[in-house]
Amino acid sequence: MDELSKGFRKLIVGVNTQVPLSNGGYAAAINLDNAATTPPFHSVMEAITKFVPWYSSVHRGTGYKSILSSDIYEAGRGIIKRFVHADKNKDIVIYTKNTTEAINLLAYVLAQDEDEGAVVLSTEMEHLANDLPWRDKFKVDYACTDKHGRLVVEDLELKLRKYDGKVKLVTVTGASNVTGYKNPIYEIAVLAHRYGAKILVDGAQLVPHCPVDMKDFDSSEHIDYLAFSAHKMYAPFGSGVLIGPKQTFEKIEPVYKGGGAVKLVSHHFIDWEGAPYNNEAGTPNVIGIVALVEAIKTLDRIGMNVIHEYEKKLIEYTTKALAGIPDIVMYGPSEKDEDKIGIIAFELMGIEPRLLSQVLSWEAAIAVRSGLFCAHPYVEKLLKLTDQKLRYYQKKPDIPFPGLVRISVGLYNSYREIDVLVDCLGRIAKNKKEYKQKYGKPQKTPESNQPLLYPPRRNAP
Ligand code: PMP
Repeated sequence: MDELSKGFRKLIVGVNTQVPLSNGGYAAAINLDNAATTPPFHSVMEAITKFVPWYSSVHRGTGYKSILSSDIYEAGRGIIKRFVHADKNKDIVIYTKNTTEAINLLAYVLAQDEDEGAVVLSTEMEHLANDLPWRDKFKVDYACTDKHGRLVVEDLELKLRKYDGKVKLVTVTGASNVTGYKNPIYEIAVLAHRYGAKILVDGAQLVPHCPVDMKDFDSSEHIDYLAFSAHKMYAPFGSGVLIGPKQTFEKIEPVYKGGGAVKLVSHHFIDWEGAPYNNEAGTPNVIGIVALVEAIKTLDRIGMNVIHEYEKKLIEYTTKALAGIPDIVMYGPSEKDEDKIGIIAFELMGIEPRLLSQVLSWEAAIAVRSGLFCAHPYVEKLLKLTDQKLRYYQKKPDIPFPGLVRISVGLYNSYREIDVLVDCLGRIAKNKKEYKQKYGKPQKTPESNQPLLYPPRRNAP
């Protein structure tokens, strides 16, 4: 395993970047916040360096560089489709800036259908990106989660039955960004289709860590729509995708209107382009696509199954080690072999999550995330935070807001890094009072994101 991890580390930019500690020393940054964003692959940076001398405007130019840039941009769609087994002819890839934009775009498009009273069935474990875009356009209901945060598929079916054909779309995360649970997307697809609905999988956390297969159109397990972000898969240049049937996106009113989305315009008429171009107004982010495509090639070379297995073992090792630390309460999967991605959410009782995440950084250069992770209703349910309690905390900004701490691994994280984390958490758990005195009060709310004043920065850009 260590050999595997050594090989993976060589693929990543910045694994040895030294960052300051509170004792005046420096240590290699340990990034356990990969669910938020991942560092780039060397291959991605090299692909961009190789491409930039040829970089030019996409689609409208006739110069050699422009034609080349356009070809690379267009060829990317096929490579992305192959990666997730989308249909070569029936599906299209729409380039977006991230998952959030992709889901907003789909919500905007589906809301144009004339189906009065249509329901979108979401779940209680969604990221806000797969919740808020639906709320103002449809009646939204949520399949519930159990006390561990696992989706109750029976409830999803119950609701599909209850709405009796009115559910237009079942929208579900492929894997939770809080507990790491993987949802049974194919089973959910079968259910959705049985009740006449389509399915969208929010692939932001799933696609970078597991093999994903959208399956044939005529399979009941077919995934109708899939969204994901490049910056969570080692390609941080502002690109993402929405994949779905061309038919959905053909005759619609584009959400963004402008150049590139039209065939011909006069003061009296607009003749829109066909899909996907009607959904990609403005100058496209070709660098973002070069990056995403190269990341996909690198992930493919390693093998998504190999990545999933490695990360699963690493997170099992972490879970076991954290279980040995007093006062740590973990949320999420309770059984060892439950299918999940490399995420653990936990609390260390007696120390506020935000302060704990800061202490990990100051003491051991470890980056983790704390708070509600943009999955507010899900974390609120896990922590039994009623609306009344939430209002209370809102009114009392001096009281630290409840939340969790999240560890999320990427393919390059090593067992040694986990040992550093566990050692540091063990020390904090044994000496909470001392650490609280040393580092003072935590920030007031999860939203307040003030820059660290301490320790001072050195050699940082
Ligand atoms: N869905 C999930 C499950 C996520 O974890 C995230 C990012 N944290 C998003 C959607 C939104 O992704 P982005 O910020 O790239 O739009």
